[in-house]
Amino acid sequence: MAKRVIFNKSEPILHKICKRVDVFDAKLCKLLDDMHETLSAANGVGLAAPQVGFLKRLCVIDAGEGYYELINPEILETSGSQRDVEGCLSCPNEWGYVTRPMKVRFKAQNRNGMWYEKDVEGLFARAVCHEVDHLDGKLFVDLIEEYVEN
Ligand code: ZN
Repeated sequence: MAKRVIFNKSEPILHKICKRVDVFDAKLCKLLDDMHETLSAANGVGLAAPQVGFLKRLCVIDAGEGYYELINPEILETSGSQRDVEGCLSCPNEWGYVTRPMKVRFKAQNRNGMWYEKDVEGLFARAVCHEVDHLDGKLFVDLIEEYVEN
């Protein structure tokens, strides 16, 4: 595994729509392993492929309930709402209140291409919304309702 450089929000790739993953091979596994290591080293909650320079619909999340890989993720259902402080590894020093759904049901593929569905809430739900936004070229800074000084 190797740590990857995390791109800053000024990089054009962070503002583009990512492409679906349709090849599940060793190269994909290597990217996922690298993203896992990069996420751990940065002590982050989530990391999306465009943040390390790949225009692919995949992200990795560890919201304190184990490590998950989401390939071609789709949010199926949301409910409730939560307002809390959010940040992003591509936007260092920017923190602010963002309202997100409290609960999210999503489906995604794992590294073998198998689909799974999962219901998550709280921080995990926030992370899924944040990372899926990345795959659509959207950044959380556009959703900040109130900036927080750090
Ligand atoms: Zn982010």
